Formats: sequence, C-alpha cells, structure tokens
Amino acid sequence: MTFKDLGVIDPILKALEAEGYSQPTPIQEQSIPILLDRKDLLGCAQTGTGKTAAFSIPIIQHIHNSKAHENGRRKIKALIVTPTRELAIQIGENCTKYARYTHVKNTVIFGGVKQGAQTNALRNGVDILVATPGRLLDLMNQGYISLKDVEYCVLDEADHMLDMGFIHDIKKVIAALPEKRQSLFFSATMPQSIVKLSQSILGNPEKVTIKPEQATSEKVEQALYYVSKKSKTKLLVHLMTENEIDSVLVFSRTKHGANKIVKQLDKVQIKAEAIHGNKSQGARQRALENFKNRDTKVLIATDIAARGIDVDELELVINYDLPNVPETYVHRIGRTGRAKNSGVAISFCNIEERAYLKDIQKLIDQKIPVVTQHPFADEVEEMPEKKTQTRGQRNYSKPQKRTSDSDNRANRSRDKKSHKSKNKYRN
Ligand code: AMP
Repeated sequence: MTFKDLGVIDPILKALEAEGYSQPTPIQEQSIPILLDRKDLLGCAQTGTGKTAAFSIPIIQHIHNSKAHENGRRKIKALIVTPTRELAIQIGENCTKYARYTHVKNTVIFGGVKQGAQTNALRNGVDILVATPGRLLDLMNQGYISLKDVEYCVLDEADHMLDMGFIHDIKKVIAALPEKRQSLFFSATMPQSIVKLSQSILGNPEKVTIKPEQATSEKVEQALYYVSKKSKTKLLVHLMTENEIDSVLVFSRTKHGANKIVKQLDKVQIKAEAIHGNKSQGARQRALENFKNRDTKVLIATDIAARGIDVDELELVINYDLPNVPETYVHRIGRTGRAKNSGVAISFCNIEERAYLKDIQKLIDQKIPVVTQHPFADEVEEMPEKKTQTRGQRNYSKPQKRTSDSDNRANRSRDKKSHKSKNKYRN
C-alpha cells in the first residue's frame, strides 16, 4: 500500500517523499481513506504511530482542493486542538512539511509566551490553526479568532486533555464551531469519560484502533532492572558510562525528582536538563533544542512535559520511575521506536513500584525481560522473577503477532538492523 493508493494528491506525495515516508503506517492506511471521504473519525492511538500525518494529510488535501486561498484573506478552515505546547509546535511543523507544495498555511498558538506574534500571524490569515485550549479560548474571547468558517476539527490526545483539566475549555470551543463540520477525535485510552465526550462531538464516526501492544512490541526492545530507590541514579550513571550513551530521555514521576536527578548527574559531570511544568516555555524549548543538538546528554522529563517530544533517532528512554498509570508506560516508550526507528526502553523498578509493573505488564500483555547482572542488584530485597536474563543474553519471548504485509516489512527491516546498539545496554 502506498500513499498514492490511498488517494493522496501529488503535491502532498512529493512532500512525503521528501520526508522519506515510503509507505503509510497502519493508522494512516486506515484513517486517510475515511477522512478523504469526509467521515467523522474516532481514533484510538497514541503519539508515535504516525497519527499527525493521518489526520493532517486529508485536511491539507481538502483545503488545497477547495482553492480557499483564491478568495481573499484566508479564514480558519481547520482547527487542531492538542493539550501541550510541545505537541502543538510539533503538529504545526509537520503540517508545514506536508503542505510544503500546496497553498495551505498553518499557524500555532499556545500559552506561556506573549501573544503578539501569534495575533499577527492570525491577522495575516491562516487555513489551519493548531492550538492549546487555554490560549485558544483567550484569543477567541479577545476577538482575534473566529471559528465560524471551520470545516474540520481535530481533538488530539483527548485523554490528556481531560487529565489536564481542559474539559470546560474544550466544551466552550466545541460550542463555538459550526454544526456542519468533519470532526476527528484521538485518544490513546478510551475510558467512559472519553467515550462520552467523543459522542458529544462526533456524528456517527468510523473507528480506528491501533493497539498499544502493536506500538510497543513492534519496535521497542524493553528491559527491566530491579533496583532500590537510593541506587537509581547510580545505576543510571553506571549504564551511561559503561555503554557510552550520549543521548537518553529519562522519565521522572515528579518535577522535584527530575530536578534532583539533574543535580546528581551534574556532580558526576554528566550534562543533564529537566523539562517540566514549573519551567518557563522558553526554558523548556531551550532544553529540548540542547538535547536535540546533543549538547545535553540527558533530558529528564515529567510525563506532561514529555508529551509530543519527537527527537529523531532517540535510541533509548529510561523510566527512572515507573508510571502509576499503565498507559503512560506505553506513551513513554513510544518516544523511542518512532515510525522510522527501533529503540530501547529500560525501566527501573523499586519495591514500591512492583504493583505498577504488574499493571503495565497486564496492559502490554507481555513480561518485560529482567536484567539481573548489574552492580546494584544485590541491594534489592527480594527478586520475584525466577526466569531471569544473564549478561549479554537476549531473552525476548514476547509473542509476535504479525498479520499484514506492512507488519512483515517492519519485521524484516528490524531484523536487518544490528542489535549491537541494543545489546550494549545490557550489562
Ligand atoms: P506521530 O505519531 O504523528 O507523532 O509520528 C511519529 C513519527 O513518525 C514522526 O517523527 C513522523 O515524522 C514519523 N512518521 C509518520 N508517518 C510516517 C511514515 N509513513 N513513514 C515514516 N515516518 C513517519
């Protein structure tokens, strides 16, 4: 299956080719025809599956074909609402790439920065507006934004939107949209509250589900280290120095914890920075840039700040703390093993986190292979895993559910990739 087979037009095909997208990901394969057919969509998928292209390509195509740019100043035809600034910026960047050879223009608005540049861009006219909910409502209330010409509306990462308390903002935004529109709704999880919200927005939607297991077991190699709480940083330093790691995204459950890890790494001359909600937008963006440029070796992030971080060739993520919500584990390890690459996800687990581990393994329907041979293993009170993995030995007994051609292709290209980089973390 190619993007052309899905009905994508030439100017967009050219841009996708330039991006190196040789074939659609499963969510793209399933969603693009539905969306080109102007149907509503309920998508159960996480970031990392290629969902941005899945929803933005059809929107760009519709707007390009409508020749809206020929009718004077552009009016907002598509609204994409997403929970975090990082994600908004990233979606905007991707829309710009995919629309490069079309007439379609986008802009991005988000809070935490002055509004001047954003209102100027809006005044010039845009076709697609990517927004976080707070700034969107703010600029709507100030009269800078009218949604009355919106024909396409996307609610991205709805579960996080609700977690972050945006429900009232979302309802106000939806109320300001024209009744007649195409609506798209994405969420990685589908609890009852999300289903209810989706029903209030969508009209008779088509459903597309990309299971977390597919996303995790396809491309991310996972490993688990039992370690006491007090030795976690020592283990992190050990893994980094032993394996000469020069780029790793580390997840901390708390902002305070993230700052603490930065300080501890600083003491051993490992350059690290933290991004979390207490940091200004400028500081977060700078830290992300430094990490992307490899000036900073370690980026420590809390879950909310990490939403949407998209760093090419991110080889390794470390769960310094296990998340208490199992779906978050899937989100986190999805930072590596993005569409083009494979990756490694290492998790540290202390005694208090074993209940979280149980929930995670249940969700992903696999046991994460345990690495027992490390210098801090002896400090662990009790080792519940009988079947363990020894130094240098690979033990990936996860079930491989492969059904389609694209799955087989993914398998082959993964097999081709050397496991050198992966095994080097197993020490
Ligand atoms: P997303 O889930 O939208 O955040 O996309 C995850 C990553 O996959 C991004 O870096 C995209 O640029 C990349 N990507 C999306 N679709 C494709 C594709 N069909 N082929 C290769 N890379 C892709």
